Amino acid sequence: MKNLPLHTKIIIGLVLGLCVGLLSVSIGLDSYWIVNFIKPIGTIFVNLLKMIAVPLVLASLIVGVASLNDVSKLSRIGGKTIGIYILTTAFATTLGLVMANVMRPGDRLPEQTKNNLLQLYKVNNENNSKEAAKIRNQSPLQPLVDMVPENITAAAADNRLMLQVVFFAVLMGIALIQIDPKKSSVVIQFFDGLNDAIIKIVEYAMALAPYGVFALISSLIVEIAGKDPYQALALLYALLWYGATVLIGLVLMIVVVYHALLKMFSKISFMAFLKGIRPVQLLAFSTSSSNATLPLTMECAEKNLGVSEEVSSFVLPLGATVNMDGTALYQSVAAVFIAQALGMELTIYQQLMIVLTATLASIGSAGVPGAGMVMLVIVLESINVPTAGIALIVGIDRILDMCRTVVNVTGDLIVSVVIAEGEGEFNKQKNLKKVL
Ligand code: ASP
Repeated sequence: MKNLPLHTKIIIGLVLGLCVGLLSVSIGLDSYWIVNFIKPIGTIFVNLLKMIAVPLVLASLIVGVASLNDVSKLSRIGGKTIGIYILTTAFATTLGLVMANVMRPGDRLPEQTKNNLLQLYKVNNENNSKEAAKIRNQSPLQPLVDMVPENITAAAADNRLMLQVVFFAVLMGIALIQIDPKKSSVVIQFFDGLNDAIIKIVEYAMALAPYGVFALISSLIVEIAGKDPYQALALLYALLWYGATVLIGLVLMIVVVYHALLKMFSKISFMAFLKGIRPVQLLAFSTSSSNATLPLTMECAEKNLGVSEEVSSFVLPLGATVNMDGTALYQSVAAVFIAQALGMELTIYQQLMIVLTATLASIGSAGVPGAGMVMLVIVLESINVPTAGIALIVGIDRILDMCRTVVNVTGDLIVSVVIAEGEGEFNKQKNLKKVL
């Protein structure tokens, strides 16, 4: 068991959790043991994820923005790259939103199961509609006002105010670029070290994931189903729809969106591109980490696609930290799914909020396993959907993480080709020889 890769352990945790939950429901066991002795492990796991969110955003964004120092050197490439990254990510978020609204995975749950979930997560729909009414009456510029914190420590103390933390981190990063490098380097080094330490803590949390997933899934089934196995099956059915919604969205992102971008901005054929990046996609799938895949991503871009080193060494490391189209798409589907499963209708304002926060949350996600799920907390908090709802999706998250990471690295590579082509930094000779 010790030597098994983490994702296998998580899948074992998922399957065992399902078996224990279903078995206990079908033989009518009292839920006391599972709720009081197994569920707390799952709660600890989710709390760990929430605990990391603020410091992770703060450190990774400050370091990310401050390291854009090279942008002055590479200002044209820098501006273009960041522009395309933000556009593709916002597109991915919107595609996720459309998919979730068309396929409506949360509606696969029967009313009774939704009501049980509502009680379980103590959702107060009255409060939500009051909140929605308040939003309708406010100035259209209120979201902008809400982004600027009055007090940064108060903002950092509340996961719901994450956008304010993002705002502060970006300003701080820009300011660090503009002050005396002798002074700023100490601060940047501090946040860089903090960032590494937080990523280590994410690793610890992920080591607990197999047990957390086991605990969350078994207790979820027992609590939802009571003594009625039909409800447990209904929940699994809805989860399958949710997984399928994310997967179809991810496939569309590669087959339609990236294909179109390549066609519009590059002469390289889509098939040749896919063939050249196959090793990168396989590594991303098996590690669930854009960061871990980065060295291979750069090598394949240069050797197999013919992107110049100058472009790849700027575009790809930046992409591995900030460009996560797969994660953004997943976050919007997950947020809508959880809301649907709790019977909460999202207003247009809330859906726009998802586009904004999922885009920012994916930029703030580190390229390590599970980071996207940590950042989902921000998206849920911003639309007033209980973060406890993450328990619903955590069971199949690792499998989706593997798939969304493939899209994340593919997106980075597409942008590197587009930029290289636009800058005349594309070695077609090499590309033709190696790939076609
Ligand atoms: N694992 C993803 C990546 O490294 C991030 C995420 O959790 O969505 O790209």
